[in-house]
Amino acid sequence: MDCIFCQIVAGEIPADILYQDEEVIAFRDINPVAPTHLLIIPKKHIPSLAHLSEAESSLIGDMVNIANQLAKREGISESGYRLAISCGEQGGQEVPHLHLHLLGGRKLSNELG
Ligand code: 5GP
Ligand code: ZN
Repeated sequence: MDCIFCQIVAGEIPADILYQDEEVIAFRDINPVAPTHLLIIPKKHIPSLAHLSEAESSLIGDMVNIANQLAKREGISESGYRLAISCGEQGGQEVPHLHLHLLGGRKLSNELG
């Protein structure tokens, strides 16, 4: 498996892991664009949102709950933050393993696209 996020899940390449359970793992983005920039991903290899089955969709709620907890831990719960999922080429997705960005710690752009 040459997926970089699967390799992080397997412990084959290092990452600054902040949380994990049976289904989900969260770690710091290697190239942060904000003071807090975390990635919350399913351990299972799901290539993108477009590949998420209905049966798997509760994962997204779990990922959002974990992101909210991590935002508290990072001290940005009150100041505010953004959760973002890119999907596919035109959605700006670069790593083909579903991931939720948690961004905060500075005033983010109001532009979404
Ligand atoms: P995307 O553009 O696909 O939504 O986001 C992919 C994110 O993964 C980028 O923000 C990028 O910096 C991050 N990333 C890519 N490779 C690695 C890696 O090996 N380790 C970590 N921690 N983050 C990575
Ligand atoms: Zn993967």
